[in-house]
Amino acid sequence: MKYLIRLDDACETMNWQRWLKMEALLDKYDIKPLIAVIPNNEDKEQKIDAPRETFWQWVKNLEQKGWEIGLHGNNHVYKTKDGGINPIHKRSEFAGLSLNTQRDKIQKGYQKFNEMGFNPRVFVAPSHTFDLNTLKALKFESDIKIISDTIALFPYHYEDLIFIPQQLGSARNVSLPGVFTFCYHPNTMNEKSFLKLESFLKLNHSKFLSIKDIALKNLKSKSIIDKCMSHLYFTFRKYFR
Ligand SMILES: [Zn+2]
Repeated sequence: MKYLIRLDDACETMNWQRWLKMEALLDKYDIKPLIAVIPNNEDKEQKIDAPRETFWQWVKNLEQKGWEIGLHGNNHVYKTKDGGINPIHKRSEFAGLSLNTQRDKIQKGYQKFNEMGFNPRVFVAPSHTFDLNTLKALKFESDIKIISDTIALFPYHYEDLIFIPQQLGSARNVSLPGVFTFCYHPNTMNEKSFLKLESFLKLNHSKFLSIKDIALKNLKSKSIIDKCMSHLYFTFRKYFR
């Protein structure tokens, strides 16, 4: 087992039809993904359907069937053009902001989760971007211990947190050893991407794990191989985009 699915941008105003389609698909193959839930969405791009009051109850049901509920920033509004320590994009809700501003954001998002009955243990930064102050803010304001993101083969330990790498934007077979997270955005998926995902799951569903299956204790720090891989990845992006 070595693949994980992460679904980004769940919120009251998501594209409900596509999210429910994704839920049914993953249930069919008994896959328990990580979902990134926006606590206080203010991003216009995530205002797709009219808000549904049943949203948080729906998220609770997902949690009860074993889905991992991750904190996806606070309002999903990009404030800087900073890529931080995982510069997948040059835009961020967090990277580049002061520690106090970031603490305030984490506090607001975490509090909303608590009010809705959730104690998240995973943080998922919007646009994958965060910096060292984000990690400090998480430690000050929450009990979150796990970050989904960065480029590496295996989960590792860094700054007293556990990093579960996120490497690919869609499901595919990877012949390297490691734990590979496929990140999907159901709000913008078309019929073709659902069909592609289903044909992959049909053949490979037994290779999927959930965050609960990963041995999170006694992880080592990032290996030399993973450091090189991350360096090559970002070098490659810089020159070939
Ligand atoms: Zn997002």
